Amino acid sequence: MTDTGSHSYHMELADKLERDRDLSDDEFAAVLISDDPQFSDYLSAKARSAREKVYGKDVYLRGLIEFTNYCRNNCNYCGIRSGNKNAERYRLSMEDIISCCDMGYGLGFRTFVLQGGEDPYYTDERIVSIVGKIKERYPDTAVTLSIGERERESYQKFYDAGADRYLLRHETADKDHYETLHPANMSFDHRMRCLQDLHEIGFQVGCGMMVGSPGQKTEHLIKDLRFLQEFRPEMVGIGPFIPHRDTIYADRQPGTAGMTLRLLSVIRLLLPEVLLPATTALGTIDVRGREKGIMAGANVVMPNLSPVNVRGKYLLYDNKICTGDEAAECIRCMSMRVAGTGYRVAESRGDHIRYDRGGKDHPRR
Ligand code: SAM
Repeated sequence: MTDTGSHSYHMELADKLERDRDLSDDEFAAVLISDDPQFSDYLSAKARSAREKVYGKDVYLRGLIEFTNYCRNNCNYCGIRSGNKNAERYRLSMEDIISCCDMGYGLGFRTFVLQGGEDPYYTDERIVSIVGKIKERYPDTAVTLSIGERERESYQKFYDAGADRYLLRHETADKDHYETLHPANMSFDHRMRCLQDLHEIGFQVGCGMMVGSPGQKTEHLIKDLRFLQEFRPEMVGIGPFIPHRDTIYADRQPGTAGMTLRLLSVIRLLLPEVLLPATTALGTIDVRGREKGIMAGANVVMPNLSPVNVRGKYLLYDNKICTGDEAAECIRCMSMRVAGTGYRVAESRGDHIRYDRGGKDHPRR
């Protein structure tokens, strides 16, 4: 009989995951709950090797522009939820956004990520004009939108305006769990519909979940992994849940770096071609979280390009790092962190690679 708690059993599971890109639910559970550091190292080494076969030593930079913290949603976990009267709200003008891109382009960024709350001020027309302006000025860049749920027609307009990628975390693939994390007016089915629409339109799509969100069980994470296997996103953004003082989850435990790192490695082995960020939230719960993320299989970092005067207002959770630095300082710090891991910051847009199609870039899928 197999000793499912044993060291060698875990090592065999890592080998199996590398070979088959799949495990049974019980095997996934055994991998996720293991706290054996030697096993984590072994799993990370496998994940690094899978990543290097596709992307070599390159780590891609995404310039994050947090352009509004107004939000019509009231997600239970989020510091910029509409119900948080203590949040100091701001939005950037078109000129502000373009000057972030000007500065970012000069610093070498070739992807801009426009992220914000679901702010009704930014109508489809406004988003279309911002995307159009960035693409006209910097045609060699990729524009990623991360502005939440809209209808398919809106997404189509953004794509037609030149947006290349869209990040919309699914948050959890379990409908009941989703409903505990969100108010009744938000719908799991609609979120899933949005992800399907984005893919069908042709975006490179990023989904992802918070790790250790309130009520999350191992079985929820396994559902997340099954969802990723089926949906096959181009990007997966995962980070630990971190409580925010003005939410009902203020006193909850944060997610752990260990679980986040194990999941990064598992996701890399499931989807070797995926673009996987080492997130700010990971860097917030562990000072070396982003370096550890890269060592666990991540290959994207997202330095902040937002103007310093608004940085401290885009607070999704407590103690967020990098809220005071200028963009130039952020990129210098990030490049040093990446170099310290033995990887290197790439100068390209860093599109998703279809390895099985001869390693060709597919910029707009
Ligand atoms: N409004 C857009 C959306 O819903 O996709 C983008 C902005 S939203 C604030 C970006 C992500 O922040 C969410 O998908 C969620 O996973 C993450 N987030 C929010 N609150 C968080 C918290 N307390 N801890 C960790 N991550 C959090």
